[in-house]
Amino acid sequence: MTEAFAVPATDAADLRIRSIRTSILDIPLVRPHRVAVATLETQPILLVRVLLANGVEGIGEGVTPGGPWWGGESVEGMQALVDRHLAPMLLGQDAGRIDQLLQQMNRSVAGANFAKAAVDMALWDALGKSYGLPVHKLLGGAHRDRLPVAWALGADPIPVVVREIEETRASRGHKRFKLKMGKMEPAEDVARVATIIRSAPSGVGFAVDLNGAWDQPTARRWAPALEDAGVDMIEQPLPRWNLDAMAQLRQASRARIMADESLLTVQDAVAIARAGAADVFAQKLAKSGGISAVQRIGVIAEACGIAGYAGTTIETSIGTAASLHAFCAQASLTAGSELFGPLLLADDLVENPVVYADGDVHLNDGPGLGVVLNEQKVRKYTRG
Ligand code: MG
Repeated sequence: MTEAFAVPATDAADLRIRSIRTSILDIPLVRPHRVAVATLETQPILLVRVLLANGVEGIGEGVTPGGPWWGGESVEGMQALVDRHLAPMLLGQDAGRIDQLLQQMNRSVAGANFAKAAVDMALWDALGKSYGLPVHKLLGGAHRDRLPVAWALGADPIPVVVREIEETRASRGHKRFKLKMGKMEPAEDVARVATIIRSAPSGVGFAVDLNGAWDQPTARRWAPALEDAGVDMIEQPLPRWNLDAMAQLRQASRARIMADESLLTVQDAVAIARAGAADVFAQKLAKSGGISAVQRIGVIAEACGIAGYAGTTIETSIGTAASLHAFCAQASLTAGSELFGPLLLADDLVENPVVYADGDVHLNDGPGLGVVLNEQKVRKYTRG
């Protein structure tokens, strides 16, 4: 009998889903992070573990950018949805048919992309580990092995922000920065941005994110002033539904217009492309439902001449590694990233955190997502 006929004790090819477990963890931040309507002190994480019949465990992470304000989902809601609805449906099924499983999830549960992304990520990790291949190779291979990382600045006083730009540029090599806007009156808000850019070292690029705070007259009035100040990319200046106004602003703007809240689904990507409403797609695993979903959005971007940008919902190294595998495999992902999650978190959940060097974050080549869970850290941060 040749070795080819030997039957292993555990069938390595048995990709049936044996169990799906979830837990909620709270990871402290290095500094409070202020977003449009909330200030984060810790980042809640939903950890999803998918165990296959072959003994391989895949891990995924469910995160929101500081609670339900962005997309209506929370880690508590995600956990209930995974435990009560998604997991029972997936048990016993073949993880190798990942596309079909995602279709089933989409038919059984409307929306809930953040929860689905956590499960999708764990399935891809389990598959990669089962095949002994990094996820980016399963997706067709990497176009690049690193992404530049823009650093997001909080809504702190101007001297604090300027010092943070100087320090993080010197210590970590960030070449681009993103300023949150939309909480103040437009005149004051634009003046603040202009002062920060004037005070910053030269050779640094700036984007602003309005989280849809402006209406069309406000955007028409103030976007030129932002451009004059040196802003070269404006993220979601208008409400998510107003693609017509986004398209008109884009026609009149020198800065690139980036769609974030407007872009969740593959259908949104088609609608934005048709309307001519964005130069850049801000892509995030969580808001779109995971690796498989952003792969489709990347293809639409490529076909329509739109650049991709790898956005964050403040992930640990688990979600950041997943983002790197997905986005390094996209030809059209040419506008950089803000994959700074692990830099904003005071601790991580893996033995081998993603690597940052000279302002870039590096893709890894390990099997699956290429990160190994640190069980001690998981216990430490699990919510009681
Ligand atoms: Mg945004």
